Amino acid sequence: MTPSSPLDRREFLRRGLGASALFTGIIAAGFTLTNDDAISSAAVKSKTAHAEQRQPSSKEWQSLRNALSGTLVLPGDPSYPIDSLLYNSKFAKLHPAAIAYCATHDDVSRCVEFTALHSLSVAARSGGHSYGGYSSCAGLVVDVSRLNTIAVNTKSNVATVGAGARLIDVYNEIGLRDRLLPGGSCPSVGIAGLTLGGGIGVFGRKFGLTCDNLSSAEVVTASGKKLTANQSDHDDLLWACRGGGGGNFGIATSFEFTVHPMPPVSLFTLRYPWDSAADVLEAWQYWITTLPDELWSNCQLLTQGANGFLLQVSGVLCGTPDQLTSLLAPLHASIGSAPSATFIGTNEYMQAMMIEAGCSGLTVASCHLDTVNPQGTLSREAYSAKSSYLDAPSSSDHATLLVQAVEMLHSDAPNVGGGLAFDAYGGAINRVRANETAFVHRDKLACIQATYSWSPYTSQSEIDAGRRWLAWLQSDVFNASTGAYQNYIDPTLADWRTAYYGGNLDRLAKIKRRYDPHDHFSFAQSIPRHL
Ligand SMILES: Cc1cc2nc3c(=O)[nH]c(=O)nc-3n(C[C@H](O)[C@H](O)[C@H](O)COP(=O)(O)OP(=O)(O)OC[C@H]3O[C@@H](n4cnc5c(N)ncnc54)[C@H](O)[C@@H]3O)c2cc1C
Repeated sequence: MTPSSPLDRREFLRRGLGASALFTGIIAAGFTLTNDDAISSAAVKSKTAHAEQRQPSSKEWQSLRNALSGTLVLPGDPSYPIDSLLYNSKFAKLHPAAIAYCATHDDVSRCVEFTALHSLSVAARSGGHSYGGYSSCAGLVVDVSRLNTIAVNTKSNVATVGAGARLIDVYNEIGLRDRLLPGGSCPSVGIAGLTLGGGIGVFGRKFGLTCDNLSSAEVVTASGKKLTANQSDHDDLLWACRGGGGGNFGIATSFEFTVHPMPPVSLFTLRYPWDSAADVLEAWQYWITTLPDELWSNCQLLTQGANGFLLQVSGVLCGTPDQLTSLLAPLHASIGSAPSATFIGTNEYMQAMMIEAGCSGLTVASCHLDTVNPQGTLSREAYSAKSSYLDAPSSSDHATLLVQAVEMLHSDAPNVGGGLAFDAYGGAINRVRANETAFVHRDKLACIQATYSWSPYTSQSEIDAGRRWLAWLQSDVFNASTGAYQNYIDPTLADWRTAYYGGNLDRLAKIKRRYDPHDHFSFAQSIPRHL
């Protein structure tokens, strides 16, 4: 079989659902709550216990509704069951007191003031993809998805992007002006969550993280005041918005990014037999240390339930297929055996982004969630994940252990899909100093993401086995001292403060004290005011 395109990140999750769907014959929307979700929900609740006792009256809600240009959705409203959903269907049991679809900056200010007045918890929501469910809360969800305009100044190479824009629209609108912004791959992720936590993607080694390209942010802080954070004003807040994590300092309403002229783009995918997994993983790790910035790559080791294992190296080059072929030659030589399937091709930038998004063959309008956009065809998914980093290439023994870990998931939970994905860092990402932005992970070889996903038909015992697998990876396989990626926020991670923020934590706490002195923007893993 010849792969026609790289395996995108949604596909990485979907492989698990696919396996379960094959097992049962269908995929349908739904959820199963696992123990780690219970931790997350409990955390949301414990942070908001005070608020639950002081819910505003219906008259007070009505006054907020009247004051907004946008829409306020309350539990009795027909759209509430859909409007309260996050991307991850395991959070379907989170029921906020209200959801405000803000249409203007002023709407956001009014919502923040309302929650402060009523001591009500508040959570900002952009794309709703938080792995921890932290864009929901017991109080008011401030949804910025209607603040989604995108404008590009091709003279200054600056794009102004509303905080609720979805990535696929960002790529499309900026791409129509022959420019690109490095971002992530999932099309329905919101620009706010992605940027505030970092933003790693296929152009990261060439152009940096999304947050590295952020030059200005409009933020409504806890006082309800809108501030502009840039190099001249509130530069500490700008610093914190560049990787300090979403939901911590205020609600961003708009961003300015530096955008880049579009390079030629080539994509590749190599698949290998599973019995060469340790060799491929080891060779890939050494190979990525030799790459030019123009080439980004990832390596995926997956179990697909009844469909067996998938071992794949893929990537994107800012260059031609011929250049790509030469750059791949040393990888082939060090693995020593040919891939079982190879795809190398050139694509227009937007076509490449659609492939990376898992939307090959779709229109941009249909490359949206079906619960969010009338033309959307994408479904939500249920999954859990953990992340870690590699500082340097693994030993052979460690590579073998990582392969065995994926085999263990397969044997413990044969109908759950998932595994390990390794994303190359380096290049422009690592040339930024660790304290230059709030994103501290600047000396890493690669990020590891461990994921397992399920469908409504997966048995609870298999879902539990997946949960135990993640816990075992954390305790026995991952090196905790290398950190974890804050955008793969992990409610079960014990030492998350150091893991996400390392040496930048002190400064983040100081900025938290300045802009959110009463800890209004608070959730289980929000930046503390005091350490
Ligand atoms: C399928 C999938 C693929 C992914 N692929 C990538 C990838 O390729 N690269 C990558 O780097 N990451 C990736 N991620 C992770 C993603 O970057 C994070 O989950 C991100 O936080 C999601 O942003 P969001 O706006 O969609 O989520 P939300 O849940 O809306 O927000 C995430 C956090 O930010 C806060 N927040 C939201 N809006 C605002 C705002 N306006 N102002 C302040 N805080 C706000 C929320 O309160 C929450 O705490 C992926 C996630 C998924 C589910």
